[in-house]
Amino acid sequence: MTNPKYKKKLEDLLVVCQKNLPRVDENLIRRAFDFGFNAHRHDIRASGEPFFDHPYEVARIVAKEIPLDDISVASALLHDVAEDTEYQVKDIREEFGDAVADIVDGATKISDIFKSHDVTQAESYRKMLLSMVNDVRVMLVKFADRLHNMRTLEYLPPEKQKRLARETLDIYAPFAHRFGLAGIKWELEDLSFKYLYRDAYDAIARELKSRRREREHYIGKFAAPIEKRLREEGFKFEISGRPKHLYSIYNKMLKRSKPLEEIYDLFAIRVILDTEDSNQCFAVYGIIADIYLPNPERFKNYISVPKKNGYQSIHTTVMGPEGKMVEVQIRTRAMHEVAEKGIAAHWMYKENVSAIDEELANWANWVRDIFENAAEGQVPTQQLMESFKLNLYQDEIYLFTPKGDLKILPTAATPVDYAYEIHSNIGDHCLAAKVNGRIVPLDSQLKSGDQVEIITSKNQTPNPDWDKFVVTHKAKAHVRRWVREEQRKAVEEGKEIWEKKVRKAKLAINDDDLAGFLHRRKIENLAAFFLALRQEKINPDELIAMLQEEQKHPQAVGTEEEKIDGLFNRFITSARGVTPGIVLNGTHDNFMHQYAKCCHPIPGDDVVGYVTTGEGIKIHRRSCRNVELMMRVEPSRIMDVHWPTESSSTFVSGIRIAGDDRKGMLNDVTHAISSYLDTNIRSVSIDAEDSMFEGTFIVDVKDTEHMSRLIEKIRRVQGVKRADRFEE
Ligand code: MN
Repeated sequence: MTNPKYKKKLEDLLVVCQKNLPRVDENLIRRAFDFGFNAHRHDIRASGEPFFDHPYEVARIVAKEIPLDDISVASALLHDVAEDTEYQVKDIREEFGDAVADIVDGATKISDIFKSHDVTQAESYRKMLLSMVNDVRVMLVKFADRLHNMRTLEYLPPEKQKRLARETLDIYAPFAHRFGLAGIKWELEDLSFKYLYRDAYDAIARELKSRRREREHYIGKFAAPIEKRLREEGFKFEISGRPKHLYSIYNKMLKRSKPLEEIYDLFAIRVILDTEDSNQCFAVYGIIADIYLPNPERFKNYISVPKKNGYQSIHTTVMGPEGKMVEVQIRTRAMHEVAEKGIAAHWMYKENVSAIDEELANWANWVRDIFENAAEGQVPTQQLMESFKLNLYQDEIYLFTPKGDLKILPTAATPVDYAYEIHSNIGDHCLAAKVNGRIVPLDSQLKSGDQVEIITSKNQTPNPDWDKFVVTHKAKAHVRRWVREEQRKAVEEGKEIWEKKVRKAKLAINDDDLAGFLHRRKIENLAAFFLALRQEKINPDELIAMLQEEQKHPQAVGTEEEKIDGLFNRFITSARGVTPGIVLNGTHDNFMHQYAKCCHPIPGDDVVGYVTTGEGIKIHRRSCRNVELMMRVEPSRIMDVHWPTESSSTFVSGIRIAGDDRKGMLNDVTHAISSYLDTNIRSVSIDAEDSMFEGTFIVDVKDTEHMSRLIEKIRRVQGVKRADRFEE
């Protein structure tokens, strides 16, 4: 650092650190200062000052007003580096290690969220922040950052002033309050108040100013006899009129519908004792009660019984000169420090006490321990610092809809859970999901702060596989209900197919006999049988032939069971081959075959068969690269096959698409496919990078004609650069 002005700033900061922090790694602060100064050297603030003045002031606030440790101060110096300069969090990690890098990373993420979303549900935002932040120092830096921004708000345009003030009042001030940062909370509130309700602010400020002399005069008159007695008794102390916060006066006026004068006439003073001995507070109370008549109903002893958040003080109200009521607080210096900088939050009794609040209270206790240790000149132990890790709201994640509304889901929720959370219709037809503008698999886990967009298709239906990864009760229930319903329908349809065949064959068989027949062949129930029929796993004609055979020769049953079993299996095997059907050259027999997954042949393709061991004949496209290889290695296994002249079946095939990753692209492509002959889309997988996307659509087609029509249609979609049949 050669710039003399900044050289002095650095030395000033080090002095503040030495004065307020229990232990200071000067080298760390110096390095963070230089790094931040260098990173921001070309940037200017709205006020016209060098940008680095902002992180510098934030670091000073952290060191002076929320003094915790040197890591927080170093992080404050660097908190805008990742957001505003060419450097990234990883550069900070290399240079300063994980603790500083994680704090900067956390602070940057919070900025990002507020940049892209307007605050509409304040409490959810607060929870969301807590769910994202696992080191409390991130919040300390954010409070200091916000405080400095509010202090310098005058340089921004009025619209931005209002937006930031609203955010501060709704989120940061209540949050600071919960964290027990009383001083920061008051200042944030008053600054927000000033920019949001300028007229009311000015009126109250004017009134306070005009009555200041009168007020100070009264406080002086009230305090004089107390000061005199305390000095005589040898106490070391400080008496101050309690500062009045404009926003709290304004709130009291609104709440009690009273004029400013009456609110304002509630005088209050605070006695702070320079002693370690809390018993002296009671002695001072005795002296004050001796001078002014106390109201016994307004006596509160938070010293023997501290508030849950650790706040300690004596509160009393006495009758002052001219019959005015004066509130008096008595506490030691250490108690006061804790109250102002650490944990004097009133949230424990003002707000709903929940499990979360208890966790915060525990955290507040740790803060108190640290401050107390620091007050006694002890250095916080590593263990104590570890306890600073927050673990709040970790069982929930906070997500944004494309419009910016918040949705709360359990941890590990996926886009499918989110889709069902929006509406069961969206869930049922959920085809793909975009998270923060990028397509992700439907089973990916969402994170707090993600913005999620669901792409639906009317042809899409719930997938039984979803049940394996969804976590919400709602999603699970819908998927399971759908699967059950589909199965029930399929069983019903299978039964119809069977009954039609039985009538046509004039076969006389009742359900019991059929069940017995199936049971001997290890098919346990009729429903499973009908389902298999519907799914074309069993050929009903072959089965009817077997039943007729059995009825002709009933003695064969049982004795030749094994033989028949084998026969039955062969029937099933051949049945598989019957549909969707392929013709082996020179024969009309059905044979077991499968379609190769590498090239997905469809009718119209030039195909060959490859004789496998155990899986029948695999049908490949002749152009398939695997076939080329097999032809060279084992030409004897290749057989000539061709498609039957007519078939009503559909075949699985894939299309590769690439194009601009514009809004609505996936919807348009999906529509182009499904609007042609009601083509079914089995799955979609898409990768988006920069402004381009590439994807594969697996679809059901009849033949090559069907396929080329689809591709033509897709190529006509605006922004599509390439669409081709999936080759392997
Ligand atoms: Mn900042």
